[in-house]
Amino acid sequence: MGVFEHITAEGHEEVVFGSDPVSGLKAIIAIHSTALGPALGGARFYPYASEEEALVDVLRLSKGMTYKAAAAGLDLGGGKAVIIGDPATDKSERLLRAFGQLVDSLGGRYITAEDVGTTTADMTLVRRETRWAVGLPVAEGGSGDPSPVTARGLFAAAKATAQHLWGRPDLEGRKVVVQGVGKVGSAFVQLLVEARAEVIVTDAQPAAIERAVENYGVKPVDPDDAITTPCDIFSPCALGAVLNAHTIPRLGCEAVVGSANNQLATEEDGDRLAAEGILYAPDFVVNAGGLINVYDELHGYSKSRAMHRVDSIYDATLEIFRTAEEEGITPHAAAIRLAERRLEEIGSLSRRRAPTD
Ligand code: NAD
Repeated sequence: MGVFEHITAEGHEEVVFGSDPVSGLKAIIAIHSTALGPALGGARFYPYASEEEALVDVLRLSKGMTYKAAAAGLDLGGGKAVIIGDPATDKSERLLRAFGQLVDSLGGRYITAEDVGTTTADMTLVRRETRWAVGLPVAEGGSGDPSPVTARGLFAAAKATAQHLWGRPDLEGRKVVVQGVGKVGSAFVQLLVEARAEVIVTDAQPAAIERAVENYGVKPVDPDDAITTPCDIFSPCALGAVLNAHTIPRLGCEAVVGSANNQLATEEDGDRLAAEGILYAPDFVVNAGGLINVYDELHGYSKSRAMHRVDSIYDATLEIFRTAEEEGITPHAAAIRLAERRLEEIGSLSRRRAPTD
């Protein structure tokens, strides 16, 4: 497929390629939609095998951000950046600042933030070249590490799931299997333990399991057995595509609520979960806490305002479950429908604004 076919296939507004031969920067910024506001999305620094792979990834991720922001009710569009390279060896001040200049050239239509391979400290350097960077360290007036906030939103979604399935939001005594106890997973485990849930953890790294067992007094399970473990909630907090034709029939849970992006391998897997009687809380709704948190920086960061908004993931999740039931569709389809309605209803307002707005 040619570059322009890739770009137009999913209705992207704009894709920008930038390089700085001195630092070795090779970056692509994709703006999927600015219908609801400036396109915000993190900068992923990753050693892509090819430029085409990087382009496909940035197009897919930026479209996902449009839906995540719309479903969260934010005045934000969807965008994303990828920097091709190994962050461990290729990252430098010059490279990050050259990237900042590329972001700046878009005049605020794209706002960058940290993502896989970039940190809040990196954003400080990017910020020296552009005001269109968020996710800065707390010491610099930013919102800091988004992971605990993402976990807080996930916890709100787990309570909404309990309310919908079992008629009360509290998680005391509920058995929750958490797959992946990294930054988000471990913060989520802490909240679950405080709520007196029965937590079982797994991870690809034995050291991460040991840490969680020691810190929170939870039980471990082998990574291969996590999916089949009987439980109330299975929480994928590691990888995408964990819900697929192979795993869904073997799931031992009543509901899936996790932070991992793109948990459904294909759209049909949403139907497969429903056919098995498993309630799926859509990933891009329940993991929006980090995005909601950095969004607040655009208004002069207020932690209490950001947390209040993150906690509203409880209501958003319940509304999606209700819409799914009323319209006879899966929660994933309901979340997409709600996001698309917002893009249409509110997005079309922007066409009525004066050019100076
Ligand atoms: P992380 O890298 O800190 O943690 C991921 C953990 O998963 C690691 O401990 C890793 O060892 C483990 N893991 C990897 N493969 C595994 C496997 N096959 N089985 C079990 N464990 C495995 O990442 P994170 O920041 O905690 O993010 C977790 C997920 O949530 C990712 O999919 C990420 O894209 C998504 N997410 C994160 C945020 C955020 O604020 N950090 C926001 C939205 C979405």
